[in-house]
Amino acid sequence: MESHFTINKSPVEIENTNLKESMLAENISWADLLDQTIKRNHGYLNICHEALDNHSQEDMNNKTAIKFIGKSWPENNTDIKNISYGELLYQTKMLMNGLLRLGLAKGDVLFSLSPRKPESYLVALASLRAGIVFSPLFSVFGPEPIAARMIKGNAKALFTLASFYHKKIAPIRKSLNQLTYLIIFDDDGSAKNIPNYIDFKTLLNIHLEKNDRIDLIKTSADDLALLHFTSGTTGNPKGAMHVHSSVVYHQLSGKWALNFKKDDIFWCTADPGWVTGTSYGIISPLCNGVTLIIDEAEFNAKRWYEILEKFKVTSWYSAPTAMRMLMKAGEELPKEFDFSSVQFAASVGEPLNPEVIWWVKKNLGISLHDNWWQTETGGIMISNFSVMAIKPGSMGKPLPGIEIELVKLNDTLLEKIMEPDIEGQIAIKAGWPSMFRGYLGEDERYLKCFKDGWYLTGDLAKKDEQGYFWFVGRADDVIKSSGHLIGPFEVESVLMEHPAVLEAAVIGKPDLIAGELVKGFAVLKKNYTPTDALRLDIMSFARIHLGVSIAPKEISFVDNLPKTKSGKIMRRLLKARELGLPEGDLSMLETT
Ligand code: AMP
Repeated sequence: MESHFTINKSPVEIENTNLKESMLAENISWADLLDQTIKRNHGYLNICHEALDNHSQEDMNNKTAIKFIGKSWPENNTDIKNISYGELLYQTKMLMNGLLRLGLAKGDVLFSLSPRKPESYLVALASLRAGIVFSPLFSVFGPEPIAARMIKGNAKALFTLASFYHKKIAPIRKSLNQLTYLIIFDDDGSAKNIPNYIDFKTLLNIHLEKNDRIDLIKTSADDLALLHFTSGTTGNPKGAMHVHSSVVYHQLSGKWALNFKKDDIFWCTADPGWVTGTSYGIISPLCNGVTLIIDEAEFNAKRWYEILEKFKVTSWYSAPTAMRMLMKAGEELPKEFDFSSVQFAASVGEPLNPEVIWWVKKNLGISLHDNWWQTETGGIMISNFSVMAIKPGSMGKPLPGIEIELVKLNDTLLEKIMEPDIEGQIAIKAGWPSMFRGYLGEDERYLKCFKDGWYLTGDLAKKDEQGYFWFVGRADDVIKSSGHLIGPFEVESVLMEHPAVLEAAVIGKPDLIAGELVKGFAVLKKNYTPTDALRLDIMSFARIHLGVSIAPKEISFVDNLPKTKSGKIMRRLLKARELGLPEGDLSMLETT
């Protein structure tokens, strides 16, 4: 299992690290660390305060916090916006006052549905500062996944663009009973057709008398801060709840696993609609005082190389799918660029193939450090650190203060695997500050994730003799496509809404670029003939309702679906058959 070729670090790289190898074994009392931070703040803890205010004391007012690269760059060289730490704090406070004036209060949930625009970063910070729970949605979601999340999350406010409203919200607005405040920005002239909306600019420019201005809502460490939706195998998406104490971990894990230094120009390519885009695309880099690059445009290999070179990115956090797309663009293109500014690079979200690591090393001269975590963990748990040799194909070692074991569940017993190279489920000792505190409205589902004080992640891995973890797979049927978790149930429910579909099942089918693609199987109702035209119609129906990132890329018609004796679809079996793999244990298969 162990890779023969580890990437060893030069003495300069090892010198230039925030983390010494001895720290990995150190015991950290999270409770003490939290206490110290709370004491420094005279009793409260607020993510936005940690991200922005601490710096004003250090005279960072003029330093660029966010460098925003607009879509028309580089053709239009002026499409770049620099927002300093001072300006960001000022605007965040203005917006926070606007949100509170509007009637929003601590504990209310604000959803944001926005592409990468400066306003979406501002609203995240302002909500956190106001104690409003911030819940980001992925901007390419279609109306159905948006409705499922907003209804479950009791959305009180939604922040979105006028164009998005018409396409994605208007069809579902009636079902959003709790939605009181619809905040619209980026009006393309169509906002006038939206009933009862609040203009973002008006909100930002509420000029209050000094005495009326609120500086900060003093949240406590255990107050709810973020609601991140994630997918499971069954049922609707789960709302993972995170509290303000997470920020202590966001700050430290960024320093350790992403090697943040004050002078860093950091580019996290993840969309803020996902947990990586929030924890490490907003909070952690700002807490560490670095300059954050945000690119509005979609992936383009040449553009990405230009950004790395032109803006002298020093620290880069991306994902395997993106790296595979760079590979696809060929070996000639990177030769035109200079990547020498990049001192540290990391990848997350899905397995990072060793050949990708070698390709990036050879063609960009950059060492990719894989790391592992989940929506539920709130922050990076396992990582290849700057200080240690990279073993391509391995996720690395646990962060300081994070205790991880591989386990097997034997009925009610949790058995720890002590020998190396044996597969088991990744379990994390509960109690780190960014651990999720529940699935909204689903206590039982939450409690089921824990056993004897260990959080069971649902991921299978092996550990080698040197303590490096190697990803094996998921213990369940969720699909990972381009780094995004997709719950089969959500897709199947929409397929079944098509008038021709009687039953449906979806699986993740291996794909060279996206890791997995969603493949659907449909049983048709009587009187429907399985034609290509019908297949296309079902696929386009799914795209309209789910959005392109979730909708199946392939659909096969089948006469029936394999089910267990209790009636559950055996997706595992569908997958094995699709891929020509052994069918495994069929004792549960219903035979009719
Ligand atoms: P999410 O909650 O959407 O961030 O997805 C978390 C899941 O992504 C994990 O449980 C893993 O299955 C997968 N994942 C994240 N990082 C890695 C990695 N470095 N290698 C393999 N799988 C990963």
